[in-house]
Amino acid sequence: MVLFWHRRDLRLEDNAGLYKALKETGDVQPVFIFDTEILDGLPEDDQRVLFIYKEIERIKKEYQEHDGDLWVFHGKPKEVFEKLVNEHSVDAVYTNRDYEPYALKRDKEIFEWLKSKDIPFKGTKDHVIFEKDEILKDDGDPYRVYSPYMKSWKSKLTNYYLKSYPTEEYLKNLRKTDDIKDLPSLADMGFGDEQKIDFPSREIDKDIIETYNKTRDYPAINGTTRLSVHLRFGTISIRKLARIAKKLNEKYLNELIWRDFYQMIIYHFPESESKAFKEKYDNIEWRSDEEQFTAWCEGKTGYPIVDAGMRQLNESGYMHNRVRMIVASFLTKDLLMDWRKGEAYFAEKLLDYDLASNVGGWQWAASSGVDAQPYFRIFNPESQREKYDEDWQYVKQWVPDYDTDDYPDPIVEHKEARERALDKYKEAVKEE
Ligand code: FAD
Repeated sequence: MVLFWHRRDLRLEDNAGLYKALKETGDVQPVFIFDTEILDGLPEDDQRVLFIYKEIERIKKEYQEHDGDLWVFHGKPKEVFEKLVNEHSVDAVYTNRDYEPYALKRDKEIFEWLKSKDIPFKGTKDHVIFEKDEILKDDGDPYRVYSPYMKSWKSKLTNYYLKSYPTEEYLKNLRKTDDIKDLPSLADMGFGDEQKIDFPSREIDKDIIETYNKTRDYPAINGTTRLSVHLRFGTISIRKLARIAKKLNEKYLNELIWRDFYQMIIYHFPESESKAFKEKYDNIEWRSDEEQFTAWCEGKTGYPIVDAGMRQLNESGYMHNRVRMIVASFLTKDLLMDWRKGEAYFAEKLLDYDLASNVGGWQWAASSGVDAQPYFRIFNPESQREKYDEDWQYVKQWVPDYDTDDYPDPIVEHKEARERALDKYKEAVKEE
């Protein structure tokens, strides 16, 4: 038997690692593990667990339609593999690569344990277009600046990198079974099954991509694709999306390249998960003020665009990109609070939470990251609102009380807060 381990690739179609396992071997048994190391820290109503659960149910059914089954476990991956190897004759384990620090550590441990049993563990690139060392500077170092990375990415791109892997041609090599195993229930794993937010569709809306460059910055418009959660869990193929993007809209393709860029950065610089990418920025004397932090979290800062973003996040598990930048700037500059606090709050709330992009986005806003916003460029929340939500449509949707007496006064005065941030940042990075 050959095992195929699904992780961030919850689909059968155009799945590079699954295709490879099916094509190169036979008797392929797919597995998925609800990893207790990840799940144990999550609240009972975590919507991502529910999202994954529903997708697992879907692909389990698809495997059954091809006379196979998906085995689903709840436990520590290494222990699950020990059990599987003890109970079955496992010839190889195939999977798609994951670039996050935790995943790399986990996979290394499993690789070594399988190796001690003479079982090969084979990883495939599926989650990104270019990975690891595929796009490097001439001197062999990873890029730290997006623009030259993007140019190099585009110059290397050929149809080979965007090709689809026709898994369906080899599904005959699935392990056939009538013995359908039960899924562990959400309740058994300590989670509820109440869906509290909408899960975006996995349909790719080509009309949105076509006009993306004109609509992407306006949070009141349905002008972005909402595919982030599907890219995060691999419920759609990045190659398919990039093929469409390449044809229809360069600006959209550029966003997919940002995603690759941050995946590559977290792979090469895993410490940037919790440390400022530019060291000096860890000298900043961050403020701590729980009352103001709570006001930010709850969307009660008195700045309508910031509050709309935070309420959208709290109520829907999503926030528009433009507004993510505004609220992150507000926390790290106007409130002068540590980006790690904001990153952690987003990590708790976002359905599309992705370590690489979230840390990337937060360090960009805090000016400490690769190719970040310079520290002296501080968003003015009022003028951002005027520019991107001119007729108050977005604010009205999420902060209906914004023009009533109940709406809070601003918790800081932007001009003063800006000066304070400039002083503290300057002091930390010792620049005039
Ligand atoms: P679209 O605008 O339709 O873009 C298409 C896809 O491109 C997205 O789905 C996403 O996969 C990718 N993408 C777009 N913008 C970026 C970007 N700036 N960086 C990396 N990839 C990008 N994205 C996440 O997927 N998970 C996160 O946890 C996350 N945290 C963020 C935190 C901050 C502070 C900021 C400023 C940005 C963050 N982003 C994150 C990036 C971006 O905001 C979201 O990917 C985007 O808003 C998702 O909506 P969409 O699918 O409609 O995107």
